[in-house]
Amino acid sequence: MDETDSNPIAILGFAEEPEEPLPDLAFISKIGGKPNWLHYSKSMKAEDVTCKSCLKPMILLLQLYAPEDFPQEAFHRVFYVYICKNGKCHKGPFDECMVVYRSQLPEINEYYIEKDKIRTENDESDDDRNSDTESNISDFSEWVVNPEIKGPIKCVICGLQGTHKCGKCKKQYYCSKEHQVDDWVSGNHKAHCGTGEVEELKNYLFKEYEVLSEPEVIQVNDEQVEEGALISTKIDLEEEAEDSEVGVDKTFLEFQKQMESNPGQVLRYARNPDFKEDCSPLWVSESGKPYEKAVRKCELCGAERKFEFQIMPQMLNYLEVSSDLRDGIDWGTLLVYSCPENCETMGNIYAKEVIWRQQFSSDGIGDKYMKASLGLLDESDYNFGDIKI
Ligand SMILES: [Zn+2]
Ligand SMILES: [Zn+2]
Ligand SMILES: [Zn+2]
Ligand SMILES: [Zn+2]
Repeated sequence: MDETDSNPIAILGFAEEPEEPLPDLAFISKIGGKPNWLHYSKSMKAEDVTCKSCLKPMILLLQLYAPEDFPQEAFHRVFYVYICKNGKCHKGPFDECMVVYRSQLPEINEYYIEKDKIRTENDESDDDRNSDTESNISDFSEWVVNPEIKGPIKCVICGLQGTHKCGKCKKQYYCSKEHQVDDWVSGNHKAHCGTGEVEELKNYLFKEYEVLSEPEVIQVNDEQVEEGALISTKIDLEEEAEDSEVGVDKTFLEFQKQMESNPGQVLRYARNPDFKEDCSPLWVSESGKPYEKAVRKCELCGAERKFEFQIMPQMLNYLEVSSDLRDGIDWGTLLVYSCPENCETMGNIYAKEVIWRQQFSSDGIGDKYMKASLGLLDESDYNFGDIKI
C-alpha cells in the first residue's frame, strides 16, 4: 500500500465493556482495572506511581499495547498511564498526579510463547478448527504467558508489587501502607483476615473497559450520518462568544469539527508506518500547548521525544470510582510524548515518558462540550438548530 504521500490517518480508540473479565495479558489495551505487566514477573512499585500531591499510589487509567517494528526490542510495547484518583490533586500541577511509563520486549523473550505451540502440544483434536471454545485463552493475541513463569507478588487491591504483608494473617499483600489501611478500614480485609478468602475492594480502581481501535474515517456528508446514530457534540461557540465577549477559539472549533464524525473516541494514536509523517495532536484549545522545554529529550538515549497518542475528554465519561473523589479529575486532552527510537529501557524495565495535560480554554466550554457529548445539555443550554439528534 503506497499511501506515503497522503495525509496521515489517526487510529482511534473506543471503549467497550468486556463481556467477561479481561485476562491478565499485556497485549490488551484497556481503561482501568489492574495493570497486566508486559514483563510478566516484574511489576511496578508504589514508589513509581506515587502522587506527589497526596502521596498515595495512583491508579491505572490506561494500558496501551502499541507494538513497533523497529528496533527488535520493541516487538511488544506497552504504555501504562497512571493518575491519582483523588480529584483534589488534579486541581494542582498535572505532573504531580499523572505519569506514563513505556515497557517493551523482543519477540523472543522469557515470558511469552506462541499460542499455536500450546495448542499442538495439548489439543489432540487439532483438525477441528471450529472448536475454539476449547481454550479459555481468548483471541487477544497469538502469545500466551509461558506456564513456567510465575507472576510477582502483587497488591491485592491495585496490582502493583506487593511489598507489605498483613501482619495478622501474613497472607495478604499490598503495595503500600495506604492500600493496606484502606482495605482494613473499609472492613473488607477485616472480614476475611485469616479465612483464606480474598475479596477485592469494590470500585476502588477505575472500571475496566477494553479499548478497541479503528482508523479514523471523517464523515464528509451529513446525510451519511445514520439518523439517531450519533449525537452531535457541537455547541455554538460563536454565540458563546457574543454572550461572554471572549474571542472564538478557532482551535476548539476545529477540534469540535474533527470529533463530530467519531464523537465516542477516547484515544487518538498518531504513529502509522504507512505514512511518512505521524499525525499531529488534535488540540482542544489554542492555549496550553506544551512550551518548548516541557517535552524533554529521552533521558536514556537523548532523542527528541515525539507525540505518540492522546487521551480524549470522552474517557472521563468511563471513569467510575465509588466516592465523589472523582470530581475534579478533568482534562481537555492528555498527550503522551515518547522516545521515537524505542530505546532500550536498560535495568529499569519501566521507562518514564512525558505526559502533558491541555485544558479547554474558556471556562464552561469544556463542561458544555462534555455535557453535549453525553446528550445531557438542558434545552436552555443550546439552540436546536446547532444540535443534531
Ligand atoms: Zn493525589
Ligand atoms: Zn496497591
Ligand atoms: Zn490479614
Ligand atoms: Zn530513548
